[in-house]
Amino acid sequence: MNEPHLFCCEACRAEWRLRRASRRLPDPAGFEPEAPVEERFVERVLTAVREERRRRVTRFTRLAAAAALLFFFFAGAGREVAATSVASVEQAYAQLDVSSDLDGLLPD
Ligand SMILES: [Zn+2]
Repeated sequence: MNEPHLFCCEACRAEWRLRRASRRLPDPAGFEPEAPVEERFVERVLTAVREERRRRVTRFTRLAAAAALLFFFFAGAGREVAATSVASVEQAYAQLDVSSDLDGLLPD
């Protein structure tokens, strides 16, 4: 390939650059050989994954139980507060009725 052609032809210039770049790449034969998969390693990873999944399920179950407990606690507490407030309103009304100071102020 003559050099002046490279200066005016874009396609050949690209090809020349590709060839030059590929020459700089390391020899593929020198690459690290693929290591054989170790059975024990795979087994350990699988065990860890299973263990993690089991732990997550346990955590979720505990969270759900805690949420249910909280829900029932607040539901019960809410009912108690409602009952208490009704009782206290009735009590206040009864006290108002008993104290007859207002009677003297009321017109006949
Ligand atoms: Zn060309």
